[in-house]
Amino acid sequence: MKIFKNKLSLRKEVNKDKCISFVPTMGGLHNGHLSLIKKAKLYKCKILVSIFVNPKQFNKKDDFEKYPRNLKNDIKKLKKLKVSYLYLPSYEDIFDFKPKNKIFIDNFSKELCGKFRKGHFKGVLNVINRFLEIIKPKFIYLGIKDFQQLTLINFHILKRKINTKVIKCKTVRDMNGVACSSRNFNLNKKQLRIASKVYQYLSTLKKKVKKGTNIFNVKSIKKDLISLGVDKIDYVENININKLRKINNDLDNINFFIAYYIKNIRLIDNI
Ligand code: AMP
Repeated sequence: MKIFKNKLSLRKEVNKDKCISFVPTMGGLHNGHLSLIKKAKLYKCKILVSIFVNPKQFNKKDDFEKYPRNLKNDIKKLKKLKVSYLYLPSYEDIFDFKPKNKIFIDNFSKELCGKFRKGHFKGVLNVINRFLEIIKPKFIYLGIKDFQQLTLINFHILKRKINTKVIKCKTVRDMNGVACSSRNFNLNKKQLRIASKVYQYLSTLKKKVKKGTNIFNVKSIKKDLISLGVDKIDYVENININKLRKINNDLDNINFFIAYYIKNIRLIDNI
């Protein structure tokens, strides 16, 4: 695995390749990240993983500082999967140039996490736009776990006619149902049990809502989640993933979206 810290040397190398599959991450690699890489391995392109904890997408300094980092372990995992390239840029390497494309931020950015994390998606799109310009990948692999992020990146790519295809990857969960997340490294056993109960609760509720034996009542859901041990809920919403808004009469395409806190650790999921 070749490791690059500088975009010029990276570009020199990857420009020789016919096609690149790009997997952007913030490190703290877990089975969710690894599943994206394994999916990319099914095609012939060389795989480039980036690890960059992007300060521009954190709206709280403390959250940025406490974000789990474990580079040594990450490198081991990537080598084991025989990833071709790892890009570990510095802040300057990413932000010291003016990209050709302006970022396009669809109105969907104002929903869900957009209501609670000011500037978050602008920060995400800013950095992804730069990565796409540096790397020019044929494919970019993104997780449905971060559905809103994936959707907004896809809209940006389509709007700016960027020659990269988004490959959507399904959410990987631990045995207890909790979606793998780097932030889980900050949870203790008791807190993981609470996260697991949240997943069980919402997946059971979804089945009942689809069957028509229950309704999606935000007030009572929030009350139930608090009694399971959740400390704070930013939102819990029932969204039609085709129309990207609340529609109650199309039960095939509903998904429950949640952002909640256990102590000061913010978790998101969609079920
Ligand atoms: P992150 O390091 O959190 O920025 O995530 C990097 C990529 O991994 C994003 O495309 C995420 O959506 C994806 N990802 C994160 N968690 C999971 C998961 N549990 N299953 C599948 N993909 C995931």
